[in-house]
Amino acid sequence: MNRAAAISNGSSITIAVPKYAQQRVAVIGAGPYGLSAAAYLRAAGVKSVVFGEPMGFWQSRMPQGMMLRSAWYASNISDPAHALSLDAYEREHRLEISLPIPLRHFLGYGMWFQSQGIPDVQRRRVLRLEHNGREFALLLEDGERYCVDRVIIAAGIEAFAYTPQVFDSVRLAEELVTHSSQHRDFTGFAGRSVVVVGGGQSALESAALLSEAGAQVELIARNPRIYWLTGKARLRRDLTGADRLLRSRADVGPPILTHVVSRPRLLKLFPSRLRDWMVRRAIRPAGAAWVKPRLSRVTITTGREISKAEKLNGRLQLTLSDGTRRMVDHAILATGYRVDISRYEFLAPQLLGAVDRVQGYPVLGPGLESSVSGLHFLGACGAWSFGPLMRFVSGTEYSSRALINYVLGVSRFG
Ligand SMILES: Cc1cc2nc3c(=O)[nH]c(=O)nc-3n(C[C@H](O)[C@H](O)[C@H](O)COP(=O)(O)OP(=O)(O)OC[C@H]3O[C@@H](n4cnc5c(N)ncnc54)[C@H](O)[C@@H]3O)c2cc1C
Repeated sequence: MNRAAAISNGSSITIAVPKYAQQRVAVIGAGPYGLSAAAYLRAAGVKSVVFGEPMGFWQSRMPQGMMLRSAWYASNISDPAHALSLDAYEREHRLEISLPIPLRHFLGYGMWFQSQGIPDVQRRRVLRLEHNGREFALLLEDGERYCVDRVIIAAGIEAFAYTPQVFDSVRLAEELVTHSSQHRDFTGFAGRSVVVVGGGQSALESAALLSEAGAQVELIARNPRIYWLTGKARLRRDLTGADRLLRSRADVGPPILTHVVSRPRLLKLFPSRLRDWMVRRAIRPAGAAWVKPRLSRVTITTGREISKAEKLNGRLQLTLSDGTRRMVDHAILATGYRVDISRYEFLAPQLLGAVDRVQGYPVLGPGLESSVSGLHFLGACGAWSFGPLMRFVSGTEYSSRALINYVLGVSRFG
């Protein structure tokens, strides 16, 4: 506890200012993880500034018409009083949100969370983050420099879009090949032939939206079959009956296994081989069952990879692993994201070099702090240390509590 002197009515009094309240904290990214973390920090009296466009990734990197795969009960952005829930948003706006949750409603919810919890988000990007051994310096896009004691990186997966190497030669021809994150609107594909590569929710839903927009679509997936997430629980507001035992409210992974993979501390107790299997099983590519009926006009080819991609007479020729070929107007790579923090361009090389990493992920300890004291990573970057829960909105509860408990040094919210 530090002590600051103040003058009142001519006499000197002493006010106790907790040490945690004196630190300056910056949060990079105003998506679900950044907003949630800031809500906890502020509720605890820790000064924090959030940088970034609120819900920017959801606004610009997901297709209009998309629905959330996660269930209602797993789509709350966590705040310490649980006052900023989806239920509260729906009530306050007199809405009746259908299930699965449409993207536009989740976006509305995220923006409302921000306006209620963190109204003063700084809508500026951080161009550079440096550390001089004592404090962190953030260089903002308008040239301002901002110095803090602690930085919470909640910058999401935008920088990690993954495209298979085989597309490298045609990758620069955006009229022929794009990543799924580059599309908000598929109407421009009406009447064109499009291959969607991938077998997860993003691939399946993109294929459905493209087909509904009037494109001729073939989906090509590496797995021998498409895995569907069945069960009605995801289309309910809350878990009921036996589902309460079988499923967790985090909605990560299959029934029963979900109770392990959505509890980071429990998951850590398992031997690494078993843990790796559980994690792989929990996040294997799969689609929500409600997409299936929307794929009636989509050709689905499984168990095959693209082995060659070439530009031919202004079109795209794809050679598959079974030797067959496709000549199409465009390929959309719904091939996901691979965390690699060296792709966060704002991280100064010296700072990046000081962060212990495994396979691109930062190694995180209590409070999701990295090997650089005062530097935390939230969201998907935390998945190597805290499991697949960190990839989903439902993980905001765990990560924000872990962070605030660490920052305060006490278990006030635990
Ligand atoms: C197509 C798709 C569908 C998904 N559906 C679901 C779902 O149904 N349910 C679910 O739980 N999860 C879903 N996810 C995963 C989802 O992305 C995460 O759950 C969620 O976005 C994680 O929140 P976040 O705050 O970590 O990241 P984000 O939401 O990505 O927020 C990070 C923000 O930081 C910003 N940023 C990055 N760098 C900087 C910088 N230098 N300066 C300032 N700001 C910066 C980014 O622009 C971004 O807006 C989906 C993902 C995709 C791709």
